[in-house]
Amino acid sequence: MTEPISSKTPNERLSPRSDAPIYDVAIVGAGPAGSASASYFARAGWRVVVVDRMTFPRDKPCAEYLSPAAEPLLRELGVLDAIEAGHPARLHGFRIYAPNGSVFQGDFAETLDSHGKPYFETGLAVPRLRLDALLVNTAHAAGAEVREGWRLAQVSRNKANGIWTLTPVGKREPIHARLLIAADGSHSTVARRLGLHRPGALRKIALVAHMRGIANLSEYGEMHVAGRRYVGIAPLEPATSGDLCNVAMVVDEQRDGRKLAGRPQEFLLDALDSFPGLRGRLTNVTVARKTLTISRLNTRTTRLSSEGLLLVGDAAGYYDPFTGEGIYRGLRSAQLAFSVGRAALEANNLSAPLLAHYDRLCRHEFRGKRAIEMIIQSAVQVPPLMNQIARQLRRREWMADTVVAVTGDFQPTSKVLRPGYLLRLVF
Ligand SMILES: Cc1cc2nc3c(=O)[nH]c(=O)nc-3n(C[C@H](O)[C@H](O)[C@H](O)COP(=O)(O)OP(=O)(O)OC[C@H]3O[C@@H](n4cnc5c(N)ncnc54)[C@H](O)[C@@H]3O)c2cc1C
Repeated sequence: MTEPISSKTPNERLSPRSDAPIYDVAIVGAGPAGSASASYFARAGWRVVVVDRMTFPRDKPCAEYLSPAAEPLLRELGVLDAIEAGHPARLHGFRIYAPNGSVFQGDFAETLDSHGKPYFETGLAVPRLRLDALLVNTAHAAGAEVREGWRLAQVSRNKANGIWTLTPVGKREPIHARLLIAADGSHSTVARRLGLHRPGALRKIALVAHMRGIANLSEYGEMHVAGRRYVGIAPLEPATSGDLCNVAMVVDEQRDGRKLAGRPQEFLLDALDSFPGLRGRLTNVTVARKTLTISRLNTRTTRLSSEGLLLVGDAAGYYDPFTGEGIYRGLRSAQLAFSVGRAALEANNLSAPLLAHYDRLCRHEFRGKRAIEMIIQSAVQVPPLMNQIARQLRRREWMADTVVAVTGDFQPTSKVLRPGYLLRLVF
């Protein structure tokens, strides 16, 4: 391995204060994307600091399902054993309920490799309270300095020496670093301060709770679509040990925003009744964790890198949680950011053209998924279309298996994004 450039000797001369260190990498946000980035760089010997405005463990509004392809990344990061020690739920696939109540099911295990073996049999479901804390601890154990309760207020880069200065809210010391990684989520302060953030056109609000007592839960995740709303239900405990589940509903901001203001939990419980696939299953429901809300889910960025900067995870843009692969994308983008960022640090060249390679890698990797998310979102808005798609996928089980394999991130998007497949969805 090439020796990392030590931040201590040459760089300290550039420091605005002689006693303030200059980190090789500063990461804003310690969610999955930020913590994974911190682990990768710290393990490779770089001097890393990761900051988060929250203290861990902390909750995050999320449906808490991990696409199967996230599992090898969690293993590589060294957190899979700790996750499994907590006996997480494992989902065998998804059942999708159309507005008319008809249902189709896709199984992960039905997609086989060239030896006739399933690529993956299950996807994990893990509370973010636990998952994110494990990832932060792993980053710390890898050698990254973790500063919690440290909220970024301002960010600037000295053009002469290329050093970033991150200024927190309050009286804490600023941080200086050569490479800045923005991992501060879909409302990224870094992206906004640097003029890279663009609000997206979709105006949605998500409401997320933990519940017990929903009848007939199985080892499948559920997605219910009705009236331009959808709700995902992910068991958080194996069926043998309990019935705790995550309930995540996404609604139209214009249509439902006022109705839920100040009473998200009541709204969520009332609205659950309107989904045909949940009728008769809610009699014994209790709320196990209060309802969290998040709005303006859809954001974009003009680019994913610039001089001395890489954007990872949701900070790089977010569309909609229907296909639930944001955690995988966060972890994978951290891996890509590491491959490009490490080479740039080693070459002592953090120029925009060199880091732009990261944009190309991400485009190649995630563009197809974005197209699928947009197609699904359009279908959700048109109930007769969603009913027809459900009818077709119920008849053609292989198509349902393919779509869960693609949204599970272990089959290429080209399996779905081809005229033959798309036409069969409707005809
Ligand atoms: C309703 C809903 C359901 C979802 N369901 C799923 C699902 O089932 N599966 C899935 O894979 N994905 C799901 N997602 C997407 C997933 O939650 C995100 O893609 C994932 O959390 C992205 O990780 P991240 O590390 O980029 O950002 P985050 O997890 O958002 O972490 C960002 C971190 O940055 C910190 N931060 C923000 N601003 C600052 C600041 N100024 N200073 C310091 N720190 C800051 C925050 O405190 C936070 O800890 C869902 C999203 C929503 C909204």
